[in-house]
Amino acid sequence: MKMKSFHLLFTSLALISQLAAHAETRSTVIFEQVRLVDVASGQVSAPADLAVASGRILPAGSEPADAIRVSAAGKYLMPGLAEMHAHVPPERVGAQQIHDTLVLYLAHGITTIRGMLGEPSHLVLRQRLAAGELPGPRLITSGPSFNNRTIASPAAAAERARSQAEAGYDLLKLHPGLWPDAFAAIAETADALGMAYSGHVSVAVGLDRVLASRQGSIDHLDGYGQQLVPPDHPLHGTYPGLFAINLVEGMDPDLIPELARRTAESGIANVPTQSLIENWAIGDLDALMARPAMRWIPEATQAQWLEGIDRIRAGTSPEQGERFVEIRRALIGALHEAGAVLLLGADAPQILNIPGDAIHHELETYVASGLSPAEALATGTVNVARYFDQSDRYACLQSGCIADLVLLDANPLDDIRNSREIEGVMRAGRWFDRQTLDRMLEEVAARAAGKS
Ligand SMILES: [Zn+2]
Repeated sequence: MKMKSFHLLFTSLALISQLAAHAETRSTVIFEQVRLVDVASGQVSAPADLAVASGRILPAGSEPADAIRVSAAGKYLMPGLAEMHAHVPPERVGAQQIHDTLVLYLAHGITTIRGMLGEPSHLVLRQRLAAGELPGPRLITSGPSFNNRTIASPAAAAERARSQAEAGYDLLKLHPGLWPDAFAAIAETADALGMAYSGHVSVAVGLDRVLASRQGSIDHLDGYGQQLVPPDHPLHGTYPGLFAINLVEGMDPDLIPELARRTAESGIANVPTQSLIENWAIGDLDALMARPAMRWIPEATQAQWLEGIDRIRAGTSPEQGERFVEIRRALIGALHEAGAVLLLGADAPQILNIPGDAIHHELETYVASGLSPAEALATGTVNVARYFDQSDRYACLQSGCIADLVLLDANPLDDIRNSREIEGVMRAGRWFDRQTLDRMLEEVAARAAGKS
């Protein structure tokens, strides 16, 4: 007992000193001779200086005194990315693991995360991140989950929606297991309160009801697989399994364009989390576990991931996995073609998806689905600005906008993998150069290996 409290005290002291070390005062920064990546037009600008002060981009030509000068000739500045289906660990796992997860997001160019399973402690965390007290992205957070275990009746669902709105959560998180009356009660209450709701499409609710609602986003392309099985197919209406993989043999790709058109018409966005599905459906497990980024993941988590993947793969053949990925990529491409909104989200740190690293894999899956690199980057920038109707916060490299920026060594419009070539990240004007990011990441790796 004594040892334990000593250990806890030591851990929290170490954490406090570490936080203090990161809490430098905000400075003025000039990126010298940098090319700006315009995600909307797919163009890069001619080299010019870009200055930032007090968290915002200054008018062109500003040369503030006492600025940190970042030599950026030959480099590219793009807007920070938003990960729209992220997870923040719960308070019970400890402040250190939460800190490390936030660092992983930030160090990979993610300056906003939408936490898709919130709890009361995340409201405090959101505030501390906004105030710059912790290194990490801006946090948008859902409340605790709506599912068949957390709500017993439509009235209880409405009450839960009201209380989460009152508590200050940014959105409601819908999980599987809802039934039509409960979904209707949530939607009606949330619409009346102006509260957003997003997440899964419960089997009993079905995609049609969701497309007719004001749900903000459908995550994981949930609900689409069932709709791709024609009514006369023997698999129609049978148990779908995880994201409908059990139905893959019955899916008819010819039904995709119409579903995409109806989605575009509904105005509802999709957050594909395609990298998550590709890892478990077709990933080479040895190669996935041997990725350098795995050093940031504690061994216990790695072991859990391996167990999870064994369970998932037990029920599906590699051929089913291949076909499933192919159909989902066709759906992503068709949604984009039809003008439906796609938002970037990878669902880290779910099975095999390493926070931060996963978003770059996710971007690659969008390009593999037919989007250009600029269009893929738009899902985490321009589309997010439109989705939230906040054009000075997301995807903005103009004077007056919040300085959430990523400096890259290579042009991401030439090759989406260049989004990984990060030279530094700026979050609301606070500059984390490569050296600082590497130091923070080495600390995360050391803790993951149990060395500190
Ligand atoms: Zn999730």
